[in-house]
Amino acid sequence: ESKFMIYQVDTICAQATAVGSGGIAIIRISGPQALSDAEKVFFPYKKKNGLWKPRYMYLGEIRSGDQLIDQALGVYFRAPNSYTGEDVFELHCHGGIQAAKMTLDLLISLGVRPAEPGEFTKRAFLNGKMDISAAEAIADQIGALSERGAQMAARQIQGELARQIRQMQRQLTDILAEMEAGIEYPEEDLELEIAGEALPKLRVLQERMYVLQKSFTQGKLIREGIRVALAGRPNVGKSSLLNAIFGEDRAIVSNIPGTTRDVITEHYQLHSLPVQFMDTAGVRETGDEVERIGVERTHKAIDSASVVVLVLDGSEPLQEEDMQVYRYAKAQGIPLLIALNKTDLPAKATLQEVQGIFDAPCLEIAAVRSEGIEALLEEIYRKAVGDAGLQEGLVITNSRHAYALQKACNALQDGISALEEGIDLDCASIDLHDAWRYLGEITGETLDEQIIDRIFEKLC
Ligand code: GDP
Repeated sequence: ESKFMIYQVDTICAQATAVGSGGIAIIRISGPQALSDAEKVFFPYKKKNGLWKPRYMYLGEIRSGDQLIDQALGVYFRAPNSYTGEDVFELHCHGGIQAAKMTLDLLISLGVRPAEPGEFTKRAFLNGKMDISAAEAIADQIGALSERGAQMAARQIQGELARQIRQMQRQLTDILAEMEAGIEYPEEDLELEIAGEALPKLRVLQERMYVLQKSFTQGKLIREGIRVALAGRPNVGKSSLLNAIFGEDRAIVSNIPGTTRDVITEHYQLHSLPVQFMDTAGVRETGDEVERIGVERTHKAIDSASVVVLVLDGSEPLQEEDMQVYRYAKAQGIPLLIALNKTDLPAKATLQEVQGIFDAPCLEIAAVRSEGIEALLEEIYRKAVGDAGLQEGLVITNSRHAYALQKACNALQDGISALEEGIDLDCASIDLHDAWRYLGEITGETLDEQIIDRIFEKLC
């Protein structure tokens, strides 16, 4: 912590609530001068003994000299018991743009510096109020696309991830301490004995790290959502399927082949996960320039998808073009489902026939009648998330954390291999120290200042 104490602290201010109309707008002031600066603009009606009671709401007026700006509430948080860990004063004025803007301008004219994006949170981190994974989770919470994403962010804000990481670091430290005793008194038998004791513990720890790292597959779904590419040749009913899902005419439906030339994205929530649908053009090989671009986009959409739904028109015989999408998605190794559409019409391609040709789950639907849609959505969810469903435990949702865990796992593996091969304890201990350091990147403990700055810049 001490390495962060040398930075220059000034007093900063910013609107903490969204700009626009609403009941209240909160202006936050943080830094050593927060209280004295606030006292120049905010005048409470009543204050006992002339003292500010921390965390107590005072009703009063925001004034610029004789001019009344707004009636407001003011609250003082005394360091270190505040969001940033510094002295903080918050002014709750009436929402809307003007009162808040006038208050801010007034503070700035008095020499309070406008805060940079994310600066309050950065100060909170630098003052030890939260670890960096919690700070990152606040940004996740603000940008969460689904209930599940918000829940996971809330758990990380509370420090659940940091606690798990620190626990792993403690286990490593304990093992290292035993190993280092052996390094001090090098003696072949003793080294072997120590290695023999350390190995099983290290394997258990590595398994734990590995499980957490693997949870990123689900974490990515929670954060970014299930991306579904609707593929199939023109006129099979992809736009109609989208309309059936959303219950509105969002995609253009027409009976002229090739009208849906763009990738359309739509948002939806399935079992509290965000789902994004991409309507795509077909993949017909064609000389038409516009359609060729459509084909490229289709391939791109399939490449980025968590699940591909290949839509077939059951009222027509299967065609070579149907196979092209199937082969492409299979070749990319992306989970695939088949929706056999237009089952309200006489069948030219039956479910049995389709199941015989394609190696993928196949469901019958009638998009224009909204039939079979629920079952299709359930199958999409199952394909994306896996049969076991979403896990209840903490999952990694941030790629930076996943990468650090991966590095820690690899370093630990190097250490384990060294011990297994009978290489001296010294070498193995270097690997374990590396693993410890990589874990610390998640909480921010072992990150250097430049990287910390970059993380906070990216947060906003
Ligand atoms: P896209 O090109 O794959 O997006 O196909 P569209 O959704 O534009 O549909 C092409 C044509 O098929 C339209 O005339 C739709 O009304 C029709 N269509 C789509 N789904 C069904 C269905 O389930 N049953 C029937 N009978 N017609 C359908």
